[in-house]
Amino acid sequence: MAKMVNTVLGPVSSDNLGKTYIHEHILFGYPGFQGDMSVAPFDWNGSLQLCIDVIKPLKEKYGLQTVVDGTPNECGRNVLFMKAVAEAAGINIIPASGYYYEGEGAPAYFKQRAGMTDILPDVIEIFRTETRVGIEGTGIKAGVFKVASSKDKITPYEEVFFKAAAKVSSEEGIQIITHTQEGTMGPEQADLLIDNGADPKRVNIGHMGGNTDISYHLEVLSKGVYISFDRFGLQGLVGCPRDDVRETVIAGLCAAGYADRIMLAHDCAIKWLGRPLPIPDAAMPLIENWNWANILENVVPALKKMGVSDEQINLMLVENPKRFFGY
Ligand SMILES: [Zn+2]
Repeated sequence: MAKMVNTVLGPVSSDNLGKTYIHEHILFGYPGFQGDMSVAPFDWNGSLQLCIDVIKPLKEKYGLQTVVDGTPNECGRNVLFMKAVAEAAGINIIPASGYYYEGEGAPAYFKQRAGMTDILPDVIEIFRTETRVGIEGTGIKAGVFKVASSKDKITPYEEVFFKAAAKVSSEEGIQIITHTQEGTMGPEQADLLIDNGADPKRVNIGHMGGNTDISYHLEVLSKGVYISFDRFGLQGLVGCPRDDVRETVIAGLCAAGYADRIMLAHDCAIKWLGRPLPIPDAAMPLIENWNWANILENVVPALKKMGVSDEQINLMLVENPKRFFGY
């Protein structure tokens, strides 16, 4: 069954999403970047050109057609800029509504309110408004909820966003993608969402490539949800195994019959907000493939060498996102 999916250029049929990256960022800024804008202002035109230069060749050479932008509300989400990119590069961008995990998000605002009132209705109101009416007065509606938890725990603050997303997902039929910190808390995230009304077929547990334990993946999959290996190219850091290790886990899961439950991406920002990251030379080899071309140029051929079939790759890049957003 096809369904209309909210993109920054309006509703698109889930049948027409095509080759899809399930979790990327056009722009991303760690909260606090807003205070550094005098030194590092946002260059709209330069950033737009950068995005076009990244996306257009992938569209032309490999047929990349849709990107889910997982940028949380407080991390520089900019739907008007996404709209400009989608128009210029000719792809679908599905914007998210949600907040980042407590450690790297901006919890001060809602934690301050939480001292005085129940914030769950506040967050439910955000999710309803951004999917029914639009984001920040633009009329552009969120197509997916993004929720996130910490390493080895879901804090009370984070739990509010999971509960709100589950509730509004069940009302509006909106899909949910998640951030697991270093690949932890996948089963707990799935349980929390499902217990609060989310249909597992609308839940995608993210950053699962951070964990290489097959039994952990099987436990999450047993909940009936999708999982994402969505940090390809980000290697060698804490919670980020090498790409070849992640590919081996995927090949194993495909051999076990789970190719219809896996989606792929890089979690890579084309443009970081604020100053450029001062990455030490020693770390450069670890992230040299952390870019939007990596999956189509490197990961897909590597998976094929490991025995993953063209049909299974098509499931992970095309058919699974289509079924996920079509439900
Ligand atoms: Zn992300």
